Amino acid sequence: MTRISPLLERNEQFARTYTPGTLGLPTSGLIVLTCLDHRVDPAIVLGLRLGDAPVIRNAGGRVSQAVIEDIAYLTFLADQIAGGDTPTRVEIAVIHHTQCGTGLLADPAFRHRAAEATHLAETTLAASAVADPRLTVAGDVERLRTAPLLADKVTVSGHVYDLATGRVTTTVDTRQAD
Ligand SMILES: [Zn+2]
Repeated sequence: MTRISPLLERNEQFARTYTPGTLGLPTSGLIVLTCLDHRVDPAIVLGLRLGDAPVIRNAGGRVSQAVIEDIAYLTFLADQIAGGDTPTRVEIAVIHHTQCGTGLLADPAFRHRAAEATHLAETTLAASAVADPRLTVAGDVERLRTAPLLADKVTVSGHVYDLATGRVTTTVDTRQAD
């Protein structure tokens, strides 16, 4: 018995009524980028179902070079699936949240201790920090909009998930980019 055993039992239930699908465009037309926090599961918070949207998650839901590269590949793949001759902009929803565990990294003393303990660079840790989600989501939306790898391929919106209310609020609309 390991900790994953009860989850494998749930999977057994899931597999009993599972219907396989082929690789196609996500039915929502969206890519979601959000935090890996276990209180912030987009399948629950946004009601995402299988096939609805690729979800990229990391500490804070921050835009890193790795995230940009994943999205560049996803836009290429979407174009290939669509037939390659009608490129459509992929829409990306960036969702940061209140009470993020990365918020502690905004404090220089905490960040320094974290860097010493983990051997991660303080600059890397600082780039993960979400202390004010409205501010960081706006910055990350801008970073995606201006990423050379994604030029003319994406539209981006920004949102804040409030852990106190369960509500997601749009703070940066896609239309501001067009
Ligand atoms: Zn978080």
